[in-house]
Formats: sequence, structure tokens, C-alpha cells
Amino acid sequence: MPRVFNFSAGPATLPDVVLEQARDELLDWRGVGASIVELSHRGKEFMGVAAEAEADLRRLLSISDDYVVLFLAGGATTAQALVPLNLASAGQRADYVVTGHWGKTAIKQARPYVDVNIAATSEAGGFRDLPARADWQLSPDAAYVHITANETIHGVEFRDIPDVGDVPLVADFSSSIASEPLDVSKFGVIYAGAQKNLGPVGVTVVILRRNLLERAGQPRADIFDYRSHVKGESMLNTPPTWNWYLAGLVFKWMLAEGGVEEFARRNARKAAALYAAIDGSGGFYRNDVAAPVRSRMNVPFFLHDASLDKAFLAESEAAGLIGLKGHRALGGMRASIYNAMPEAGVRALIGFMDDFRKRHG
Ligand SMILES: *Cc1c(COP(=O)(O)O)cnc(C)c1O
Repeated sequence: MPRVFNFSAGPATLPDVVLEQARDELLDWRGVGASIVELSHRGKEFMGVAAEAEADLRRLLSISDDYVVLFLAGGATTAQALVPLNLASAGQRADYVVTGHWGKTAIKQARPYVDVNIAATSEAGGFRDLPARADWQLSPDAAYVHITANETIHGVEFRDIPDVGDVPLVADFSSSIASEPLDVSKFGVIYAGAQKNLGPVGVTVVILRRNLLERAGQPRADIFDYRSHVKGESMLNTPPTWNWYLAGLVFKWMLAEGGVEEFARRNARKAAALYAAIDGSGGFYRNDVAAPVRSRMNVPFFLHDASLDKAFLAESEAAGLIGLKGHRALGGMRASIYNAMPEAGVRALIGFMDDFRKRHG
């Protein structure tokens, strides 16, 4: 069976060359005679892998020494709970801007620890647009402001970093990190589960402005404490070594391909082509998100007649295009076109969509 084009939202497609390298090294990692999965996280081999992964991610995103970089277990959802525990005092106010499903999850994880203020939400409009910055009701005493850079399910993305003054901006970048250059200095915390754009599920990157470590936070176990993770170099307990290693291979691949500048160009071309195909389908396909904030990573779309959904999914799969079923919250279809989705994959999808429309239109 040849490799298909996988449009899954996450876990998502990985570059062939990364999987091939992992396969080639699986039983004997660089002459050690054992797999990297079998080696101690404190041994020099894995410590080297970990250090290189951090250095490569720092290079990729131009992360300065003012920031620490953590590789943690627990997914983005755990990261959402660590933010209030570490940055706010118990019951302190925290501002949340809700632009889709994941903004709501972030609030759910924070509510036990902080006084959540929904500074703005686009829920009334079905999350099809971003709330205008001028309408945000920010609290002057907020511990931080939380946004979701790219809403993976609703397909809405911040195209500009909002100015929130001196309050630290915390952003969930799970589904768009490393998709284009990023001014890290505008953020207090950036977190991202790896399984969309950085590699496999099981490891979460946290990029944290060092001076925020001075905040007392609130009573919490050591394992939920950023400072302990910094001190322990993300090895407070046994880290997800395999996932961390694979993410490191993905970082090297991105650097070799030309870095985030190159991925920004590819991603812009892929998204523009796919949205043009949807918009130019005479209403056969439809994307409802306001054009300026359409996600470059996740493209939800609907067929004009939902009774064709089953045929669309079956035929696309037969054509070697998998993972197109939309999230159950929205229905319809969704094409996730992260860094590892080649332009040929998007061309193949567009070709299939045109053909399907001609046969069923
Ligand atoms: C996938 C996703 C999450 C959840 O990640 P887990 O690793 O499953 O906890 C959170 N936020 C965004 C934006 C996501 O895309």
C-alpha cells in the first residue's frame, strides 16, 4: 500500500523522511545496539537528543535566552491547567478570549484555580470570526490574557498578535506553531501539543518568559510547577523520550527544508489554493469563516448537500485521501494541512473535490 495523503487534525501526518529515519534507527540507535526508546533518559545518548531538540526548536522559532523551553507530558490540556496554577494566585482574575472549542477547554481547565473573565467570545456567531480587539473587555488586574492562536476545529486563526498591554499574553499554539515566523517576545507563555505541527502525540512544548517564574502561583504539586520542570530540565520524572526524539527529528527536517519562513510560504500557497477551490465551486462546497481569519492549518468545509457526505468520505478514501471527516461538533469535512502535508497532497485533494463535484453536482 503506498503512503496516502493524511488530512487528520491530530495525531497528524509526519514527513516520510522522519518516519524512515526513525524506522532505520529503531533497533540500533546510532551504533549503540539498542533503541533510543530503551535507553535511560539520563544517559548521555538521550540527554544529547534532548539538548539538540531544544537547540533546534530555539533556532527554528528564534527563541531568545529570556525564555525557557520545556518538553512535558500531559498534552496541551494539561498545559492549560498549569498556566493558572503557575501564573495566578488562587482566585485571581484571568482573561480568556474564546474563539472556538479549544478556548472553551482552556477555561474548563482554569476555572478551579482562577476567576475566569471571558473578555471576548465569538460563540454567538458560531465562531466564524474573531471578536474585534476594540470590543475585548480586559481586566486591568488580570494575571494573564489567554488566546487560542489557531482554533483547530472551527478553523479560525489570529493573523495578528493582539496587543494586551503589560499583562502577559498566553497562547495555545498547538495547531499552528512553526507554521510561520513568530515574534516570541510578544508572549508570556506559548504552549503546543506536538501532534499537529511538531511531531507525535505525547510531548508538549512550553515556551515561557523566564521572569514569569518569579510568580508565586498557587499551592500545587511539584509535578505541576514550571520551576521544578525548569530545574529538572524537563526530566522531573521519566519524560516521553520516544515522542521527544521524534519531535527532534521533525525540527531537524523543518530546518533542513528552509525553516519557518519556507513553511510560511508553502502553507500560504496550500491554504490559498484550497480556499479558492471551495469558494470557486459555485456553492457545492462552503467554508463559513470570515476570509481574513481563515485558518491556514485547518480548513473545515461543508458539501451543499449533507447527504453526499458519506460518498465524499468513501470516495476520497478510495482515492488515497484520508482523515477528511469533520469534527463531530461541526460535521461536514475538515482538511488539516500542517507543515508535513506536501503541496502535492493539497493538489490531489483539490483535484478530487473538482472531480467529485462534476460527478455529483
Ligand atoms: C489538539 C489541541 C488541544 C488538545 O491537545 P491534547 O494534547 O489532546 O491535550 C488543545 N488546543 C488546541 C488548539 C489543539 O489543537
